[in-house]
Amino acid sequence: MQSTSTPTHCPYCALQCGMNLTPAQQGGVEVRDRTDFPVNRGALCGKGRTAPQVLSSRVRLTSPLVRAGDGTLAPATWDEALDRITGELTRIRAEHGADALGVFGGGGLTNEKAYALGKFARVVLGTSQIDYNGRFCMSSAAAAGIKAFGLDRGLPFPLEDIPRTGCVILVGSNPAETMPPALRYFTELRANGGTLIVVDPRRTRTAEQADLHLAPRPGTDLALALGLLHLVVAEGRTDEEYIQRRTSGWEEARAAAMAHWPEYVERITGVPVPQLREAVRLFCEPEHAMVLTARGPEQQSKGTDTVGAWINLCLATGRAGRPLSGYGCLTGQGNGQGGREHGQKADQLPGYRKLDDPAARAHVAGVWGVDPDSLPGPGRSAYELLDALGGDIRSLLLMGSNPVVSAPRAAHVEERLRSLEFLAVCDVVLSETAALADVVLPVTQWAEETGTTTNLEGRVLLRRRALTPPDGVRSDLEVMHGIAARLGVEKGFPTDPEEVFEELRRASAGGPADYSGITYRRLAEENGVFWPCPGGAEPGEGGALDAPGAGREEGGSPDAGAGLGEDASLDAPGADDPARDGDGGAGAHPHPGTPRLFLDGFATPDGRARFVPVTHRAAAEEPDDEYPVLLTTGRVVAQYQSGAQTRRVDELNAAAPSAFVELHPRLAVRLGTAEGDPVAVVSRRGRAVAPARITPHIRPDTVFMPFHWPGAGRANTLTNPALDPTSRMPEFKVCAVRLERA
Ligand code: SF4
Repeated sequence: MQSTSTPTHCPYCALQCGMNLTPAQQGGVEVRDRTDFPVNRGALCGKGRTAPQVLSSRVRLTSPLVRAGDGTLAPATWDEALDRITGELTRIRAEHGADALGVFGGGGLTNEKAYALGKFARVVLGTSQIDYNGRFCMSSAAAAGIKAFGLDRGLPFPLEDIPRTGCVILVGSNPAETMPPALRYFTELRANGGTLIVVDPRRTRTAEQADLHLAPRPGTDLALALGLLHLVVAEGRTDEEYIQRRTSGWEEARAAAMAHWPEYVERITGVPVPQLREAVRLFCEPEHAMVLTARGPEQQSKGTDTVGAWINLCLATGRAGRPLSGYGCLTGQGNGQGGREHGQKADQLPGYRKLDDPAARAHVAGVWGVDPDSLPGPGRSAYELLDALGGDIRSLLLMGSNPVVSAPRAAHVEERLRSLEFLAVCDVVLSETAALADVVLPVTQWAEETGTTTNLEGRVLLRRRALTPPDGVRSDLEVMHGIAARLGVEKGFPTDPEEVFEELRRASAGGPADYSGITYRRLAEENGVFWPCPGGAEPGEGGALDAPGAGREEGGSPDAGAGLGEDASLDAPGADDPARDGDGGAGAHPHPGTPRLFLDGFATPDGRARFVPVTHRAAAEEPDDEYPVLLTTGRVVAQYQSGAQTRRVDELNAAAPSAFVELHPRLAVRLGTAEGDPVAVVSRRGRAVAPARITPHIRPDTVFMPFHWPGAGRANTLTNPALDPTSRMPEFKVCAVRLERA
């Protein structure tokens, strides 16, 4: 263990709060405030404060487990476990082809692991069948951002800009529960005279702090945004000069919005017209304003269009690509941003390149030392991949995910996992998914290994190793190295994270998410570096001139990279230094990174943001006589995602021990149920039972369940896997259910 304090970051959500880890008297490490990190300035939620408890949990895995002939999981040596994996993968590939081998990653994996996993799937296994649980997180916002701006970075500006804008509309986000230290940005906004509008069907702890709370019926955020845009036009609040100069496609988007007149929108959403008018007034009167979305509007079968409608509102009012104004997505998972950039997505190569782009394939294949034609094409999205298990996908290697709890239609996904010929899982504890595996590999955790993550602002951060891992565990990088070597790939899968990052820099050079100017040394010296941060592209390997935004008509030099802002361009000193010089252009004149995107132009071919004409449509499943109530799902402050880690912390379990069904008093009376009574929630996919929690802070037509728990109270037993046609996001946020007394 290090004898002194180690500055690092929390293992959980996308805020990636800074913390110091110091040796604890009783052994292990304890968390101390780290006030120099600007995002959280020392503040942490309970999850971050208690994170070290998972390191020494009594249920921590410290030996590989292999399923024996009697069906039980028994301890085994690493050689036995890795031999079993490679034997099964070799057999299945020989019998059914490489695409019979599935790989499933996670939005919590470091950039190095996500990068290595995508390369491992395509180079070692030769399979196209890889995706990850981040698909369930922010993929709709990513798709909408790329459509409108040509580039997806969750927040195109730092969080520190929020208190200085005039108004924020927070759509389907509850930071008071999901990332409490972020709440101060909104508190400071209001203290500075700005206003906060929260859109949520529940009066959450975040909504309680808002100047205006709009509570639409779940699944109607798209209509709500269109209704606001209609009023913006009707009241003459559009910014015509901005629309003409910086956007395209306005007439079609305007026509679509004008079909959503206020009374019609009130009927769809349940939000009264005066509240719509007040929201427009609050949003349009200040000079600057922002819209921030999270899972509420995004986790819908029309999530991409819904986010597109909110972006249209920003564009029509001139609130994008300008200082202190813009659209952003509050990403959820710890490395939800970096995890979607470097190749574990079904359609993607590192640097946010597209797998079906010949130039991208050639560039990355050059870095990997393989023939571009040997790289498989795009595969299936996360739910489609899980749904195909036991069909043409015969085996699965899973890292950093627990789909038995977190996937939609979870009982079906569990049944698909059980039907596999072979399942291998890497985890720190025996999660509900690991318990189904044929081989379980115990791996290191955040404080036991070094690696980078990219937080919700696009700020690349260095997590440092603070203590020695227990005997018997290995890192995910060591796992990939060991399997690759056994499958005859001796080189290209180093176990040193910095070595992996050096290769990632070269692979990302010239791509939309360009990390080539970032080094571990810089990350250790600076409080993170925002991408794109070019260090110079290698000639003939898809350099910066191929990047989106190159050759745009306005806003700076045609040499500029992807939507660079005022404080970053390829003209910056050091931009010509090749990434492979070991310093990434980070020597005498490093590229400063790009905290603010799009100020000079958007990352589209013509530099203009694109309006996308969208219209309201119903949820995939609307209430009917049999299933008359809407279910929406979400999180509570004391648990994180599937709870695989946080359910192992006594203090967090005491605060949030199990699932519940939140319902309005009128609904409770109709059902004849009292506080704490068990309630059965039944959808077309299954039945979940949990105690009633009765509150007036939810719409009477809606019930809410948090999704962190397995078993009888598993909310995802109920959720609908109807997919967004663009992002392939399942509709976690709305489905039809009926309630029964249990
Ligand atoms: Fe910060 Fe999120 Fe960790 Fe809480 S869970 S300490 S908000 S990074």
